[in-house]
Amino acid sequence: MPTLTLPAEGGCRCGRVRLKISAKPLLTMACHCTGCQTMSASAYSLSAAIPSDGFEITQGEPVIGGLHGASRHFFCPHCMSWMFTRPEGLDWFVNLRPTMLDEPGWFTPFIETWTSEKLPWAETPAVHSYEALPTLDEYEALVAEFAGR
Ligand SMILES: [Zn+2]
Ligand SMILES: [Zn+2]
Repeated sequence: MPTLTLPAEGGCRCGRVRLKISAKPLLTMACHCTGCQTMSASAYSLSAAIPSDGFEITQGEPVIGGLHGASRHFFCPHCMSWMFTRPEGLDWFVNLRPTMLDEPGWFTPFIETWTSEKLPWAETPAVHSYEALPTLDEYEALVAEFAGR
């Protein structure tokens, strides 16, 4: 299995927006919710929760897309790749779509969420599965368990 080496760079499909991470993810996730199915044009979305001070846009200016709601979904303004999300009220991390990285082979989802809405055949290697979302307390335990792996 490839391992994550930092800093790691990445970008959107067309390369106009480039980014860099310099911190390890707090948690890795797959989300099966129907919103993620629609926005990702796939069975589920992937997220690596990167501490905000270890996340940097190095080129271009991502724009807000999706529902334009309290959680802000950022896209490349040209190729419209869904690049990352700044979740509502949680400004200490950024949920990066790990396939934006030039070398995403290290990524596996540690948890999966919203399995109640998943496509019948959709499976991931996640260690923990949730029909909806973990509680905030459960998230704390998950982050500790993920860090200790
Ligand atoms: Zn682009
Ligand atoms: Zn989702």
